[in-house]
Amino acid sequence: MTEMRTLKVALLGCGNVGAQVARILIEDADALAARTGARLELGGIAVRNVNAPRDVDLPQELFTTDADTLVKDADLVIELMGGIEPARTLILSALRNGACVVTGNKALLAQDGPTLYEEADKAGVQLSYEAAVAGAIPILRPIRDSLSGDRITRVLGIVNGTTNFILDQMDSTGAQFADALAEAQRLGYAEADPTADVEGHDAAAKAAILASLSFHTRFALENVHCEGITKVSAADIAAAKDAGFVIKLLAIAEKLTDAEGKEGVSVRVHPTLLPREHPLAAVRGAFNAVFVEAENAGELMFYGQGAGGTPTASAVLGDLVSAARRLVLGGPGRTETTTGHVPALPIDAAVTSYYIGLDVADQPGVLARIAQLFAEHGVSIEIMRQTIHRDAESKTESAELRIVTHRASEAALAATVEAVKGLDVINSVTSVLRVEGV
Ligand code: NAP
Repeated sequence: MTEMRTLKVALLGCGNVGAQVARILIEDADALAARTGARLELGGIAVRNVNAPRDVDLPQELFTTDADTLVKDADLVIELMGGIEPARTLILSALRNGACVVTGNKALLAQDGPTLYEEADKAGVQLSYEAAVAGAIPILRPIRDSLSGDRITRVLGIVNGTTNFILDQMDSTGAQFADALAEAQRLGYAEADPTADVEGHDAAAKAAILASLSFHTRFALENVHCEGITKVSAADIAAAKDAGFVIKLLAIAEKLTDAEGKEGVSVRVHPTLLPREHPLAAVRGAFNAVFVEAENAGELMFYGQGAGGTPTASAVLGDLVSAARRLVLGGPGRTETTTGHVPALPIDAAVTSYYIGLDVADQPGVLARIAQLFAEHGVSIEIMRQTIHRDAESKTESAELRIVTHRASEAALAATVEAVKGLDVINSVTSVLRVEGV
């Protein structure tokens, strides 16, 4: 019987995810060897402080601060340090040395992915990053491999657990954004500095990755239109609820044809109203889900834990076994195709439905004037609902108007809202939110 080959694994980082990856590599060594056809030997773990307390009991001799040397000696490198540098330089050095790399670093991929992908192509090795989008959920491999014989038309994702927790909290308790954020921080779902999550930057990095794989074209962070959830008010949530919607922060990538007939991809992150019966509306708490629409497969939904050390480690190990099998069997690293060459469209070209809340004077003819203005701008109304509020003290009446439009371009909608603001019967535009799934 021939002896099983041993592949050396370098682990960079031993935080939330890295510590769990190290634990599984050691605890499940035999099972991983059986599935891979080679023993995966953890050669060392690079950290900043070798004496820092760890979540997992690991052999002290594995720890080092010399990541460069560790990388030079490895067949497989797992980067779980996060941040741009030194992660970028270490990954490039690993790829140039012929090692396969597994990373969960969406920030780095969104900022400088093309340089890394090209280096992996050149070296003929595999660069995998399933953990970078939606944690434990296997979504990148299904998009890249399982759907490679189909045409994806649209991807809608809840890819940030922090913001989903906050919006869900606001929806179920009526809390304001600041209170829901404080609760998320108390429970450990949000960081002390929540900017990357609540401003949508984390979701935008993931949207760029999802769009790139779905449309076989490399999209960067600058191609993603990004709006976070800080301006979503308890009143917006209540109005949405009343109209049968829930508000979610969605990462959206979809193929569109702009006004001049040019095909392109709209990649965007923004708070979005979804009908309560839409499958993504049922995604509660800090869970993630990605809804994919493809020409032949139809609608698919992927759901699970989008973060956390152990769930994310599962995605990392999946990539590691797949890369290791390739090393055992020989042949070049598997990379995604980039033959799509579809341009990213500006946000103006995005086509979606809208929810518009208006505070209007309670006078005869108001509804007709507003409907006429929408029609003049080519925006057709699907639902228009009026609620009269009577103030007993001042004995005054005001009317609240809620409009849901059919799909219209962002540019047409913006022009309509500007025109509506100019009407003398409009007291204020209380909200303008995009709607999907109607
Ligand atoms: P973390 O808890 O902050 O751990 C980072 C680790 O990297 C620490 O062990 C740290 O060493 C080490 N490190 C940082 N800078 C270093 C440097 N310059 N040299 C050597 N070691 C360095 O991070 P994490 O939450 O595990 O996340 C790791 C990566 O996975 C990130 O890219 C993140 O975006 C991604 N990810 C995380 C999750 C999640 O749920 N946490 C989910 C999906 C993707 P010390 O321990 O000595 O400080």
